[in-house]
Amino acid sequence: MKRSNSGDNYTSYKIGALTLTSLRDGYVDMPITRLRQPGNKVFGDEQPQQVRLVDGNLRLSVNAFSLDDGTDVTLIDTGASNAWLASMGLLPEALREANIAVNRIRTVAFTHTHIDHINGLILPNGQDAFPQLSRLLVPKEELGMFRAEARLQRFHERVETFEAGQRIDANIEAIAAPGHEVGHTCFRITGGGETVLVWGDIVHVPSIQFEQPEITWEFDSDQERARASRLRIMALAADNTYYIAGAHLDSPGVGCIARSGTTFRFDPL
Ligand SMILES: [Zn+2]
Repeated sequence: MKRSNSGDNYTSYKIGALTLTSLRDGYVDMPITRLRQPGNKVFGDEQPQQVRLVDGNLRLSVNAFSLDDGTDVTLIDTGASNAWLASMGLLPEALREANIAVNRIRTVAFTHTHIDHINGLILPNGQDAFPQLSRLLVPKEELGMFRAEARLQRFHERVETFEAGQRIDANIEAIAAPGHEVGHTCFRITGGGETVLVWGDIVHVPSIQFEQPEITWEFDSDQERARASRLRIMALAADNTYYIAGAHLDSPGVGCIARSGTTFRFDPL
């Protein structure tokens, strides 16, 4: 996979005949207490040295990814729009910079249904962000959660649920990675003999969770399952030399993962 283009808020990569683009929605700052050691313990005075802080907080990138097959563009996650903090909501600008016309986006797939992944369906002015959207792919286990988001009610009839193991099109396959949320999914994309795993929220804090994958996140709905999924997915990607693309890895959030002793290492592309 090779980097083909980039700008302030996007980076594109060629994978065979496909183009994967990392789209920067922005960032969110979180206190270090969101990190959890086994047993759901917060870090006290013995804060881990390697964790990078910005003004005393963890700064998580918020990224979405698009896949262009030359005909259509599929978008994986949509950022937060104006539903959370003003530090997010750049997706429309990122798409413009990347020269991806919103009318070409007919399919949107969610890794899971948290606020910073689904609200970009709607622009801050209330209009649809993707006027030609016809397929809205939601993990089967999270249909109820999606339908509970009142603001997104007008999308209900376009929802198509998917299950792990299912191909959502010729190039993209859904892989179960539950724990952060009950239907949390990674998307495996293959092109030209290479594979990239758009892995959603497998990692929230890259400065510690590759080296210590046992560390979880306060907002993991099931800490034990999230830990088990992270270890399994990291091993899958490292042992098969998949590229990875993460929603909260530092923008653009694309690179390689390798085993490093008993844990893992991330090498940005
Ligand atoms: Zn997230």
